[in-house]
Amino acid sequence: MDPTGPDCACGNVGCLEAVLLPMMAENDPDVQGIAQRLSQAVITVGAIVDPELIIVGGDSGLVPKAY
Ligand SMILES: [Zn+2]
Repeated sequence: MDPTGPDCACGNVGCLEAVLLPMMAENDPDVQGIAQRLSQAVITVGAIVDPELIIVGGDSGLVPKAY
């Protein structure tokens, strides 16, 4: 997602989880920034594979219920 982003546990760089999880774990006050990055990722995946349904799960449960 972000070639200049942080290293990810999977061995790549700038994966969505590597960018968002630290922000969510630290309760980053930039909730709008987190939501924007997550929505950009969902829109990008949706444009590529055109799925009928996108389910966001896993550690994304750390996102405040404001969404
Ligand atoms: Zn990764």
